[in-house]
Amino acid sequence: MIDAAVSDFPQHLHQRGNLPKEERVALKALCDNKNIIIKPADKGGAVVILDYVYYRSELLAQLSDSNGYRKLSFDPTSKFQLRLKNLLDIACTHGWITDTQREGLYVKHPHWPIVKSDHDLTALNRKRVRFGHRRNRNLKELLSPTDPVSKYETPTRLNKLGVFKCGNCTMCNSLIVGDKFFHPHTGKPYTIKQRLTCTSQNVVYIIKCPCGLLYCGKTCRQLRERISMHRSTIRAALDPKPRRETKQDISKQPVAQHWLSAKHPASAFKCMPIDCIQDSLRGGNTDRRLLQREAFWTYELNCVAQKGLNSSLTLNCFL
Ligand SMILES: [Zn+2]
Ligand SMILES: [Zn+2]
Repeated sequence: MIDAAVSDFPQHLHQRGNLPKEERVALKALCDNKNIIIKPADKGGAVVILDYVYYRSELLAQLSDSNGYRKLSFDPTSKFQLRLKNLLDIACTHGWITDTQREGLYVKHPHWPIVKSDHDLTALNRKRVRFGHRRNRNLKELLSPTDPVSKYETPTRLNKLGVFKCGNCTMCNSLIVGDKFFHPHTGKPYTIKQRLTCTSQNVVYIIKCPCGLLYCGKTCRQLRERISMHRSTIRAALDPKPRRETKQDISKQPVAQHWLSAKHPASAFKCMPIDCIQDSLRGGNTDRRLLQREAFWTYELNCVAQKGLNSSLTLNCFL
């Protein structure tokens, strides 16, 4: 009956909190402030603010105390589950607890909370999923994420952001450097929020041709390997010698074809990394997130032909 009555729930799943924009921005700034960390207090509903350097050194000091902590070589969850089951069985046989109590105390799926937080696995477990109302996160939850990722950056990473030559490869010359780039049609400026070089991995990049058209692509390998591949497709397309028909003719790729039809010289090839996916400390599908960023930028920068050099926009990475 409940399932039938809540058929309109999905419409209301994404509700924003009731904070105005300025307050959300202010909270985010507090959250991202690298000098402090905000945590729920051990007891009571309070929130505490600590100096991050102090917090981190205290945390590491406690963890390195071998009297209290030990680094695990394997996940002992199922071992504990079995031991708990044996104990509960004994207690039940002796009549210390009832069958119902045993059922309640035994955890059948100790990994379920982890599985639940995994996006792809949840889809496999639809039967267990129910729609429900969820309140928005409160101040304490907004200010104290379990994993304070914004604090992790090492001081070297805090150096200047933007695109830089690695200074050590032949692809450096094809790189457009700087800390911003512009929309090819509207001129809107975009700031680069990471530090990117020819050796960056998991990047989204743009190729800019002399007539101002953009191609947007991504690579999970080092950017310079991808640049090298693009340059060889262009050389193959511009090369007037007839080639053997191979299974995959690299000169047919859109960038190479444009270079040929617009008579651009091979040396005019310019490329700029614009976005980068950091490997998440908590797992997650980096490839998929990279595809999503690529699709976002392809759309945002209007890169699909005829206004750009991409042949199409692929959105199934969002499904
Ligand atoms: Zn380089
Ligand atoms: Zn062109």
